Amino acid sequence: MNITHLECALCGLRHEAHTLQNLCTACGKPLLVRYDLQKASASLKKEDLASRVSSLWRYRELLPAVDDKNIVSFGEGWTPLLAASRLAAALPVKLDLFIKDEGQNPTQSFKARGMTAAISMAKELGVTKLAVPSAGNAAGAMAAYAARAGMEAHIFMPSDTPQANIIECGQTGANVTLIDGLITDCGKIVAERKEAEGWFDVSTLKEPYRVEGKKTMGYELAEQMGWKLPDVVLYPTGGGTGLIGMWKAFDEMEQMGWIGSKRPRMVSVQSESCAPIVRAFHAGGRFADEFENAATVASGLRVPKAIGDFLILDALRASGGTAISVPDADLIKAVGEIGAAEGIFAAPEGAACLPALRKLVDDGLVADGESVVIFNTGSGIKYLEAFS
Ligand SMILES: *Cc1c(COP(=O)(O)O)cnc(C)c1O
Ligand SMILES: [Zn+2]
Repeated sequence: MNITHLECALCGLRHEAHTLQNLCTACGKPLLVRYDLQKASASLKKEDLASRVSSLWRYRELLPAVDDKNIVSFGEGWTPLLAASRLAAALPVKLDLFIKDEGQNPTQSFKARGMTAAISMAKELGVTKLAVPSAGNAAGAMAAYAARAGMEAHIFMPSDTPQANIIECGQTGANVTLIDGLITDCGKIVAERKEAEGWFDVSTLKEPYRVEGKKTMGYELAEQMGWKLPDVVLYPTGGGTGLIGMWKAFDEMEQMGWIGSKRPRMVSVQSESCAPIVRAFHAGGRFADEFENAATVASGLRVPKAIGDFLILDALRASGGTAISVPDADLIKAVGEIGAAEGIFAAPEGAACLPALRKLVDDGLVADGESVVIFNTGSGIKYLEAFS
């Protein structure tokens, strides 16, 4: 409702907001949504939030869709920030450690955040057919939100995607096509067919609104921590939408006077067998080369080439953070460690943050007394075959 325009994240070109848009028409990079933040902060005070709905739509003034009746929601977001004191106690430094448990979202992952925003906006703009390439959880969320909106869903996934994702899509009425390849191959098929089929492509960062839904993790972090951001955030990174979104949210909040200029050190966590961002971060590149033979049990991290690579890398560097990869075997083991210590059955993606945190501690990159937030981005229940 306070959106002024869309802006290319690379070249800055201005695009019209209240019409269907995918990538920048000049350079092909992602578009970011810009708001009249003065107007937003005049009608929404951070003190007023306490009485608002327990979903990400509590930040209504900073989200898309003009008309409330177009909002497609299951009550996503506003997930708990859980203290992880037993995991913290096992570390050689004393940390205030928290897990933001995104596995409690509808369809059991934080992909619900992006889809509520994207599909609400698609509904407002008259879309009836959606298509998405997915490594798994985005498909499950898209299928559910499309069904709730009364839209057709066309989903393209690698054939070795976790069974739960394939089954949930079928059971929520989506048209599912399995591809012998990776998410990038699925993306090519959507791109080739969408025009003839009349599909709107909701690939992450190839439409402007999924990142808006995911940015609410940044707002929630600030609100749940009393408007004081943590020292370090560990984020399991695939396409990077959540990290890019949080970084954007921090800037929006600062411009509204809700927080100061201090930022957490942002840490991207990837699997050693698919680590394009980690490789580019340490090589000093602004863009990341495609990672060959990408293969990891953490399907959400199996993104060999991210279109928002430069936004991830810029944020990591501006924040004084870093990028770390962990072996697949450690990440499955970490699911059991987090589960036994804290009772959270984490997704392998989220669990990857624990060995990454240990590495940060070993390397002296996290100091005694600092506050650290791990994002558990989904639920382990979606990955049963990985534990057999
Ligand atoms: C998609 C996904 C990720 C990666 O999220 P991005 O924002 O695309 O980097 C991490 N974990 C899980 C469980 C996912 O489904
Ligand atoms: Zn551009």
